Amino acid sequence: MPEIFINGQAIQAEADQTVMQVAQANGHFIPYFCWHPQLSVVGNCRMCLVEVEGRGLDIACNMPVSAGMKVFTDSDEVKAHRKAMLQFITLNHPVDCGICDKAGECTLQDYHYAYNGEASLSRDAKVHSTKFYNLSNRILLDNERCILCLRCTRFTHEISKSMALGVERRGDVSNIRPVEDRPLSEDAYSDNIVDICPVGALLSRQFLHKSRVWYLRPTASVCPGCSRGCTIQLWHRKPEWFLKSLDPAQNTSIARVTPLENPAVNGPWICNKGRDLARIFERVRAEEPMLKGRPVSVAAAIDEARRLIGDARHPLALISSWGSNEELESFKRYLGEVFHSFVKQDWQPEEGERLEDDLLIRADKNPNTAKARELFHEGAPAFHDGTDLVLVWGEGCDFARLPTRAKVIFLNSYLAPENGHAEVFIPISIQTERGGHYTNFQGVVSAFESCFPKKDTVSDAEVLFRALAAPARGHP
Ligand code: SF4
Ligand code: SF4
Repeated sequence: MPEIFINGQAIQAEADQTVMQVAQANGHFIPYFCWHPQLSVVGNCRMCLVEVEGRGLDIACNMPVSAGMKVFTDSDEVKAHRKAMLQFITLNHPVDCGICDKAGECTLQDYHYAYNGEASLSRDAKVHSTKFYNLSNRILLDNERCILCLRCTRFTHEISKSMALGVERRGDVSNIRPVEDRPLSEDAYSDNIVDICPVGALLSRQFLHKSRVWYLRPTASVCPGCSRGCTIQLWHRKPEWFLKSLDPAQNTSIARVTPLENPAVNGPWICNKGRDLARIFERVRAEEPMLKGRPVSVAAAIDEARRLIGDARHPLALISSWGSNEELESFKRYLGEVFHSFVKQDWQPEEGERLEDDLLIRADKNPNTAKARELFHEGAPAFHDGTDLVLVWGEGCDFARLPTRAKVIFLNSYLAPENGHAEVFIPISIQTERGGHYTNFQGVVSAFESCFPKKDTVSDAEVLFRALAAPARGHP
């Protein structure tokens, strides 16, 4: 274990560590653009220059530790070179922060104010390049903002393995460009390059000019798109910036989804399906309880459901694999003795969707099959002639296969034709309206938090199951 000194602090380092890694682990911040802990080292941005006693300046990201080395991260010489590097990097940069989606979370902006703070020294005209280059159906590239850190190309070579991006030409006319026969649109992880681009060169079409980031706040959540259960952040408008006119629906909608680093589940990445969760959560909601298609109050629907449960001789339940751990446990506790229960796959892979791969994506497109299987029966539901009541919880049920004589209690969140056919329909909340946990296929339990309020006519399944277990009025 070599001992090194950073800014005078003695540190026991691992023999295979770099100065950057040791500094990061011990609270000495060294600025960088091209370095990324999950990518190979290229050392091309030169922002992480540090001074080593007796050796002068060198880049920390590519410098192995050696016993007794004395590193200075903020000496006058380091500061002068950092400033010079920022002058160089912004030589042809358009500095169009006012219209850039990255403003507010741009490393170049932050470093400029922290380490430079001066206008450009150059008197020459800037070299212009493509402003909105179409990289894929999801991502635009602004070559003028690109600082050629090569994080995006390395991501496609080393992480997603699509090999979709490269650099064409040299010098101040170098450009990131797609590789001709490897479309970035086929890279199921492509949107991660928008996150790791340190500047606003890579732009999400979905988020383009939709909101300034300082109007938004993130809520920690879990992607329900497959049984990996990636840890994510759902970004939505801060209450103090709620819109009163124009488009108030934006106040309760998901502006964007980004990964929340979780080494036990997804590291710092998610797939593109996780970015598109608004398409799942923002479908038209079912918000009115119904008896055979006739709107009723929540109390009337619950009362009728209790009556059906009380009268049934052979009730069977199809359990949602999108239910949280808490909801599944609530069903088990309050209704587990009443119903013969089977786990249902609420979602199947969609046409064209990647089924499975070695990075994150799993074939099971449901977030909580693991917990549901732990508590309930697996396999095809054992319907028989005597089945007189079926409780269907969540989506994915083929209603044509239910016994014709069985009455149906349906708990669903979205508008669907089957809602109106059930004897009792009760709308239930979705993941963004309640907190809870999912258990992923590896047994890792992850928490999600609520970010939007639910309507009064919509029930939380966890509470609803307790209410359904109580005897119906007028019944013993
Ligand atoms: S587009 Fe962004 S991530 Fe890619 S090289 Fe340019 S600055 Fe780096
Ligand atoms: S890998 Fe699965 S859980 Fe992770 S973001 Fe993609 S769909 Fe969601």
